[in-house]
Amino acid sequence: MGLKRRDFIKTSAIGLAAPSAVFGEAKIKTNKNDPLILSTWSHGLPANDAAMNTLKNGGMGLDAVEAGAKIPEADPKSTSVGFGGLPDEKGNVTLDACIMDSTGNAGSVAFIQNIKHPVSVARKVMEDTKHVMLVGEGARQFAVSQGFEEMNLLTDESKVAWEKWKKKRREMTPHETHDTISVLAQDKNGDLAGACTTSGWAYKMHGRVGDSPIIGAGLFVDNEVGCAAATGLGEEVIKSAGSFLVVELMRQGYDPTAACEEALNRVIKKHNGNPDFQIAYIAIRKDGKIGSACIKWSFEYALAQGGVNKLHNIKGMI
Ligand code: ASP
Repeated sequence: MGLKRRDFIKTSAIGLAAPSAVFGEAKIKTNKNDPLILSTWSHGLPANDAAMNTLKNGGMGLDAVEAGAKIPEADPKSTSVGFGGLPDEKGNVTLDACIMDSTGNAGSVAFIQNIKHPVSVARKVMEDTKHVMLVGEGARQFAVSQGFEEMNLLTDESKVAWEKWKKKRREMTPHETHDTISVLAQDKNGDLAGACTTSGWAYKMHGRVGDSPIIGAGLFVDNEVGCAAATGLGEEVIKSAGSFLVVELMRQGYDPTAACEEALNRVIKKHNGNPDFQIAYIAIRKDGKIGSACIKWSFEYALAQGGVNKLHNIKGMI
């Protein structure tokens, strides 16, 4: 049966985005000497500055992404990350974070409380334990044993917002209140690293964990191919192995933006072409090309490269 015109247009559009060698591995050369930092949302700008300074001072990509992620973690005005993050339905600030380096090593913490810098605890898990992931009370105890200070992360402002929410208990969607910081870096040797940190879905169920501490969902780094990270509805990112998928699509030859779009297409299709939630991806390919896409509305990423650190706004796919 012949293609209807509409199908033909759809096929052609996908054909344009598709790689030259879908089933093979694309040959991707390394970008050397022009370091870059790519991160999510406007709090990515100060995060990028800190990350770039770390690279300039001789730090590795891993040091850079950690330094970048720590900026919104410490900023009480970033109400979706770290100190000042909006709490769960019971009023507890519970945090998720992960980190991954150019050798494929990874560490993560989920549902951790009272520790301001979960991204640094995630790095400790990676470097000083045999494990990849620690959760909840175990993660907190490990952090304390490593010298992390305990503190109350619920600011007066976030407490007031939670108390107001409690009166009506309207379910918040992640795009209303949520902006995970994900930071990706490529250093002067072309090596890649990434980190994610978040307080997750505002007023979530106590114990809920999102995509941000899940390697392959909120973040994935493959130093041969590229790296990717997510923000948005974590449940859907986990179910589609989002960041891993973006990297694998780049391995097959997809352009970084086309890879982000194709990963999102799979989610859009599952939701009959009209999901009512947001997911956005950012990606860096090994040759230094960056990409990003989001399902709907708009999304902002911050890119620092060649002395310029700028916010870029993209429109949704649907
Ligand atoms: N991905 C985060 C989560 O689901 C939230 C966000 O980035 O908006 O916990």
